[in-house]
Amino acid sequence: MSDKNSSSLLVIILDTNPIWWGQTNSKSGANTCLSTCLNSVMVFANSHLMFSHSNKLAVIAAHTNKSCFLYPLPKEPVPIDPAVDTENEAEENSVKVPQIGQNDGKYELFAQFNETIKSEIQNLIFNDKLEGELYSDSLIAGAMSMALCYIHRMEKEASVGEDVSSRILVIKGSEDNAAQYMNFMNAVFTAQKQNVVIDACILDNDSGLLQQACDITGGMYLKVPQMSGLLQYLLWVFLPDPVMRCKLTLPPKAQVDYRAACFCHRNLIDIGYVCSVCLSIYCSFSPICSTCQTTFKFMGPPKILKKKSKRLAS
Ligand SMILES: [Zn+2]
Ligand SMILES: [Zn+2]
Repeated sequence: MSDKNSSSLLVIILDTNPIWWGQTNSKSGANTCLSTCLNSVMVFANSHLMFSHSNKLAVIAAHTNKSCFLYPLPKEPVPIDPAVDTENEAEENSVKVPQIGQNDGKYELFAQFNETIKSEIQNLIFNDKLEGELYSDSLIAGAMSMALCYIHRMEKEASVGEDVSSRILVIKGSEDNAAQYMNFMNAVFTAQKQNVVIDACILDNDSGLLQQACDITGGMYLKVPQMSGLLQYLLWVFLPDPVMRCKLTLPPKAQVDYRAACFCHRNLIDIGYVCSVCLSIYCSFSPICSTCQTTFKFMGPPKILKKKSKRLAS
């Protein structure tokens, strides 16, 4: 019973961007809609829970204007009533679950999980209609920060002697937004420090930011060649724990796009200027670093020219 002392916490970040999902749906038909993707994710999540009793799971939606937990849901405040105190205590550890009609003999945990995810996604999409403005990128950096906070809490709450290994799986289709670069990289370095592996399952647009995240934290980056095989890829590549991966034959590592975003315009650049004090990146030379206010007394390129001309003179 070695799994008594070790448990695996998996946080799935699902890109629910309505614009991207709408576009893919109209391009390639019903084969790639959010609900089929969701079915695969639910089977994958159930498999993770099935692996061990002690395995834990959370799902976060990275939406266009917010990130929110799909599972588990935050506990509702319980009204204090001394008469039902003991009952409340028993309920304290359970999560808020929407009404489930027929379970069809399903394992309760799976039924609970699947129903919660479905109804939360419905709420999320429905609220879009009310809120109006939508963007073509998703708040992945925000969702990753939420995931890291959740992981930190779960590791703190773990019983003594319990070894929790945590990882994050990002399932993403929409394009990158370089404006999130700094928040994103901060989250990635935090994950690296906390020994959290970040995996990426890419449905459409290659993501330079996630390539870097996977490379830094030792995770797998995979662009799914065929959406119809999503479940197979999830089960094959992302279900085994990272420690088991060296024993498996996995797809070759992807080329990493190591471009950074400049701090002035948030554009991804190949060559730029770096502040020698705070390491801020700029796409063009500026005499004052806008991050740390250091003034640079010498211009970069002209100084070299001067030196050269002096040498020539002497
Ligand atoms: Zn710039
Ligand atoms: Zn600086």
